[in-house]
Amino acid sequence: MNNKEKILQYLQKNLQPICDDCLSNILDIHPRNQVNQICRTLQKSNIINRSRSTCSGCKRKKISNKLLQNHQPIEELDNKINKKNMQIHNTNSKSTIVTSNSNNIENEDELRDFIMQKLFEHLPTSGNLMGDGKDMWFQIDKFTKCRAEEPLNYGLPNNGTLNHRSDILITYNDEHIIKYISIELKYKSAVTDQFKCRSYDIFHMKKHYKELYGVMFFVKVKNQGLSINQAKKICYQFDEFISCNIEEINNKGWLEQLVDVINKYFDIKHK
Ligand SMILES: [Zn+2]
Repeated sequence: MNNKEKILQYLQKNLQPICDDCLSNILDIHPRNQVNQICRTLQKSNIINRSRSTCSGCKRKKISNKLLQNHQPIEELDNKINKKNMQIHNTNSKSTIVTSNSNNIENEDELRDFIMQKLFEHLPTSGNLMGDGKDMWFQIDKFTKCRAEEPLNYGLPNNGTLNHRSDILITYNDEHIIKYISIELKYKSAVTDQFKCRSYDIFHMKKHYKELYGVMFFVKVKNQGLSINQAKKICYQFDEFISCNIEEINNKGWLEQLVDVINKYFDIKHK
């Protein structure tokens, strides 16, 4: 039995969410990164769900795995994976988005995870996608790193300071200059005050950090929260305002826009 079969068999018998670390220990699959890679593939094939929940092993709140179709025997699941993989290989253009479990994005954390994964797939990168959730990061090139939930505190004109965490922060640091792209995400609970707060943040961040480019990405839910137009007006302090409806999250429009902004700001050369 190979590692993928081991994981599937375990998830069929145990229907409670389980994290990568626990799977790695229980099934003796090392390094742990292997579990991570296999589970990501299973997620892309819509066979398992990966979301932040309490792990049934270590009881910690982590990205955990759970089988979606527990009634299917392993052989059928295998066929499904192979078919999906073929489809993925057939779409050889880098700008084609492969649907990966995006229809059930429930909150901003899951949206951030989804976007981190998409950026990893569509930006030039060196190395793997590391960590999970709030700890996710990857290297773009020697000097440039993309990190989830990264602190970027800022000063106020009256000597005050405020703590801030960018939802996604891309940092270029060659020891002579440091440049940032700070990406803020808004999804559910997108009311006026939320956008006003983000605008206050970016206004002061841009004063504090000379080389900082602010991006607001608003994913709109139908009949909920502010209109895209009104949100954009409040967010005038951001250098870039990108938006889409949640139903369009699999379209490539917003992603092309975001990738374009990042490439241009850092002058990244595609391999
Ligand atoms: Zn665990």
